[in-house]
Amino acid sequence: MALTPSNGTTSTTSFDYDIIVVGGGPAGLCAGLYASRARLTTLVIDKAVPGGQILNTHLIEDYPGFMSIEGSELAARMQEQAEHFGAEVIMADVESVRSTGEGGVVKVVQTTERNYTARAVILTAGGSPVKLDVPGEDRLNARGVSYCAVCDGPFFNDRVLAVVGGGDAAVEEATYLTKYASKVILIHRRDQLRAQKIIQDRFFANPKSAVIWDSVVEEITGEGSVTGVRVRNVKSGETSTIDVGGVFIFIGFQPNGDILADTGVNRDHGGHIVTTMNMETGIPGIFAAGDVRAQLARQVTTAVGDATTAAIAAEKYIEAMHPVG
Ligand code: NAP
Repeated sequence: MALTPSNGTTSTTSFDYDIIVVGGGPAGLCAGLYASRARLTTLVIDKAVPGGQILNTHLIEDYPGFMSIEGSELAARMQEQAEHFGAEVIMADVESVRSTGEGGVVKVVQTTERNYTARAVILTAGGSPVKLDVPGEDRLNARGVSYCAVCDGPFFNDRVLAVVGGGDAAVEEATYLTKYASKVILIHRRDQLRAQKIIQDRFFANPKSAVIWDSVVEEITGEGSVTGVRVRNVKSGETSTIDVGGVFIFIGFQPNGDILADTGVNRDHGGHIVTTMNMETGIPGIFAAGDVRAQLARQVTTAVGDATTAAIAAEKYIEAMHPVG
């Protein structure tokens, strides 16, 4: 495919794809849908099975049109729809994105296997779970320490579990874990939860729920597997050890913005990519959408909204570059 940049210079460049979307969660699959429907050759790359965080969510009840749908089913439907309209979805590990060529018009997406070129890139790489960073957490990871209730909940039948955090994820997943556990103790560092009220109400209505307020986990204990958590009350300073068979940690997400580090994009103090309303990063031809970008809400609905805008903005960017082939 050849391209003549609108800056008056001429260059003939071939591209592997018009648009490469890095990240295959709801934002990435939605960007793939819109880009492919715009008849742009589109590649969506995810390092794992596409679906992102919703794969770790049992039921989604706040995606319009679905009273309730399993996260894995919504992900599969999104992928099927994007592929139906022509997007190619692959699994690969993206290491970096950079602009090269005359005027930086060629975007190079470098994976561990090979490089791909595109006219525009949309980063929808989401984030990774934030760690508590306490003794025992890494040592007992996957031996009772988990960051995914849907993946690991069934291993904890009739066990007492601790869930750390007070946001939507912690409270929602704590409720989910009551399906398996004999008791789920939510441990939160303040005396009120950040989670939406409806999510809180459902947890508190569950007879297996308990909360330890104003407390932080200082250590996760156990030899071969988790046997307890050492907890400190931040108001009284008192420390106690609670016997649990597992610890689920949901204290937020760290955005995967490092992929764009070589491009010099702006990031906020939390590492989220700062964009305009049109999802532009400030680097021509590179857009960001979903949880990786700085914004107020991190919902599936906002991710797909962002992604729609990003794909349309990318299409307009490509049009403005006067494609000739
Ligand atoms: P979040 O909203 O940032 O909440 C993180 C929670 O962890 C907060 O309660 C925070 O306490 C606590 N926390 C942070 N660092 C901690 C530490 N070092 N030690 C102990 N506690 C710590 O993160 P999230 O729940 O993962 O949600 C991320 C985004 O996804 C949010 O925008 C959320 O609305 C969205 N989400 C939505 C749904 C849904 O709509 N159904 C489900 C899941 C996630 P403080 O409250 O004291 O700050």
